[in-house]
Amino acid sequence: MKVCSSCGVKVETMDNWVEFHCPSCGKTTIVRCSRCRKLGNTYECESCGVIGP
Ligand SMILES: [Zn+2]
Ligand SMILES: [Zn+2]
Repeated sequence: MKVCSSCGVKVETMDNWVEFHCPSCGKTTIVRCSRCRKLGNTYECESCGVIGP
């Protein structure tokens, strides 16, 4: 089950969510829902702690 890295919502029931590897360490997979993309909410990598949009 995939949840948004920012708000924790289950993205599998939503449209327009994205999944990508951490731009800093590449170890973790960041998931962002459409709402957080729109609002520009930040995410935090569990592995390296990088914070970003
Ligand atoms: Zn979200
Ligand atoms: Zn990272």
